[in-house]
Amino acid sequence: MRIGIGYDIHALAKGRKLLLGGVSIPHSHGLLGHSDGDVLLHAIVDAVFGALGEGDLGDHFSDKDPRWKGADSRMFVKEALLCLKKRKLAVAHIDSVIIAEAPKLGKYKEAIKKSVASAFGLPLSSVGVKAKTNEGFDAIGRGEAIACQAVVSLKKGK
Ligand code: MG
Repeated sequence: MRIGIGYDIHALAKGRKLLLGGVSIPHSHGLLGHSDGDVLLHAIVDAVFGALGEGDLGDHFSDKDPRWKGADSRMFVKEALLCLKKRKLAVAHIDSVIIAEAPKLGKYKEAIKKSVASAFGLPLSSVGVKAKTNEGFDAIGRGEAIACQAVVSLKKGK
């Protein structure tokens, strides 16, 4: 049995698109990043590499590498899926937490879950997406950043 844990945090800034799990969410601010800043996909892919025992997201996709500048984070998912395939492994289940003070994500959770499931080729019942605030504490609570945590378990693949 293999399990990986992933974490990421990105700063919010004006004039950026807010992408969570590949879903574009209307908000006054978006996430800064070398890529598209999709903090949820980054945390999940980080967890995949953890479960593989193959480092972290930054080891595979350096933020100094021009190839990933402005990259759609679903590219990282595709690369992670290829790494799994090479090892004859596959994702069994993903659970995740988005920690954001704003915007309120309740009405987007289902769309985010569908998008993550589709990116990883999983049924909806194999993906968890939870959203919470930081109760006003710290940078996340002040609306300066959004963080995500993820856990991924692997199974035998083809
Ligand atoms: Mg990141």
